[in-house]
Amino acid sequence: MSFKTEAFVLHSRPWKNADRLYSLFTPQEGLIEVIVKSAAKSGNKLAGHLLPFSRVKVMIGRGRLDHLAGASVVIDYANLRSDLRLLSLSSSVIELFLASDGGAEKIKEFELLGEILFFLNNQEISTEHKLILVRIFLWKYLSLAGWRPQLDSCVICQKDLSAGLSAGEAGKYMPGRGIICREHQNVSSVSISGELIKFLQFIIRADWGQLDSLSISQNLNKEWLKISQIYYQTVYDKPSQSLKLFIYG
Ligand SMILES: [Zn+2]
Repeated sequence: MSFKTEAFVLHSRPWKNADRLYSLFTPQEGLIEVIVKSAAKSGNKLAGHLLPFSRVKVMIGRGRLDHLAGASVVIDYANLRSDLRLLSLSSSVIELFLASDGGAEKIKEFELLGEILFFLNNQEISTEHKLILVRIFLWKYLSLAGWRPQLDSCVICQKDLSAGLSAGEAGKYMPGRGIICREHQNVSSVSISGELIKFLQFIIRADWGQLDSLSISQNLNKEWLKISQIYYQTVYDKPSQSLKLFIYG
C-alpha cells in the first residue's frame, strides 16, 4: 500500500548500507520516519529533493518500515540553510517537532510550522522581529500541544480573575499551568504583571496578520522572556538546543 502526502523534512541520519532514515512531519500522522534507499549514493534523485526544512510532496510505501517512493519540492526555504543564525533558529523550531508524538492528526501544527518557516525565510522581516515571531510561535505551538496556559481563571480554585485583569492587576503564574489567585501559597509560582497576562492571551489567540505590527516595550519583553524560559523548562524537563529560542532577548 502506498499514499501521497505533504511533509516537512525535519532530519535525516544514516541507515543500513547506503540507505538513510528521514524524519518527516505530516498533517495526517504527525512525525513519521521513512527509509530512502541508496540515499547516500551520489546523484540520488529522491535525496536531492529532501533538503532540511523544505516542504515536499511525497509518495510513501507503507511497510514494517515506511519507504519513500517519490518526492517533489513544494517550497524550498533555501535562506534557512544559508544563514547561520536562521539555521540555528530553524533547527530549534524543528527540534520541537522531532520531540512530538507520531500517529495522530496534526493539521494545525503542520500549518503553524509552515507559517514560522515562511517568516524565518522571508528576507523582508528583520532578525529582531523574527526572534519575537519565534517566541510567539512557541506559545502557540505549546498551546496546541496540550500546554495551553489558563489565563482567565485560577488554576487551583477556578475563580474567575478576568475583572482584576481588566483593571490591570498583577497576578501569580504557575509554570506550565496558568495563573492563580494571589492568596494561594504555591512555592513554584512567580509573579506576573497584568500587562503580560493580557499580552499572552492576545498572542495565543491572534492570527499572524494581527501580530504583524506588534510592538512591545522593553520591560514587557524582558518579563516575557523570563516567563517563556520558565514555561519552556517546565514543559521539557531536559535543557536542549531549543533553549536558544529564548536566549536572544
Ligand atoms: Zn484561586
